[in-house]
Amino acid sequence: MSSPSEKPWEWPEAHWRGLVGNARAGRSLAPRGWPGGARCAVAVSFDADHDTIPLRDADESPMRISQGQYGNRQGVPRIRALLARHGIRASFFYPAVAALLHPEEIRAVAGEGHEIGIHSWIHEANTALPPGVERDLTLRAAEVLERLSGRRPAGIRTASWDFSTETLAIIRELGLLYDSSLMADDDPYELLDQGEPTGIVELPPEWIRDDAPYFNFVRFSALRPYTAPSAVEEIFRAEFDGAHAEGGMFLLTMHPHVIGHRSRIALLDRLIGYMRAQPGVWFATHAEVAQYVKAEAARGATG
Ligand SMILES: [Zn+2]
Repeated sequence: MSSPSEKPWEWPEAHWRGLVGNARAGRSLAPRGWPGGARCAVAVSFDADHDTIPLRDADESPMRISQGQYGNRQGVPRIRALLARHGIRASFFYPAVAALLHPEEIRAVAGEGHEIGIHSWIHEANTALPPGVERDLTLRAAEVLERLSGRRPAGIRTASWDFSTETLAIIRELGLLYDSSLMADDDPYELLDQGEPTGIVELPPEWIRDDAPYFNFVRFSALRPYTAPSAVEEIFRAEFDGAHAEGGMFLLTMHPHVIGHRSRIALLDRLIGYMRAQPGVWFATHAEVAQYVKAEAARGATG
């Protein structure tokens, strides 16, 4: 939408209403109950960015690319072993380039029953792309993931949650079940397109429930926000406790190259053990949560 004026305070009402109408939160899809009489849903996800973070920035540094490759060599094997030990399935979102670099990994992850979702071509920022490029990259990414994993992706998480003003139309064209990039709620909701219900489920993430803001490290900066695993565990556990108390959803986003380190995979192990020990917790993939809440809404069992 082109701006009628550079000055937001001079915009006519129709303009700012149009801006907030892009992918606006519609009705809540929080169900009255979860499968099997569970109190809350836990949806664990891993954004398997691997090498694509430096590649996205045209950064040729072998050192920074090696930090991404760590996600493939150590992160994902540890995560797969941990999930198998706890008997839970998760959602893995892959940039197409990360999947093409590590086809044996995505095949193994999909083969163990985990979900594979769309996560850009090379971790590009959608809002910085020329018009039309995001559509082309997203359609190509969906084809790559389908070919490598053997299943058509049901959902998308935009890279860096950089959902653009073109993203919703692309999701509708692809016929996806859900998005997991927008943050208007704690629980699932339906996306509106300029006031029109789309039937697309939003499974909201948040940086509070993401490992990267706590653990990422900037070498040449005074800001080196290394956080103790115990502090992150405290925050994640409090978010889960709130979801359990309210009967909602706890959606957690992590990155193999971030959470996969020895000191951090242990916190995830403790957190999952804690959640499994609580009564009435339904562990599910993002696609399973989206399918369930959409079906419950269709039979009027939400809110
Ligand atoms: Zn990512």
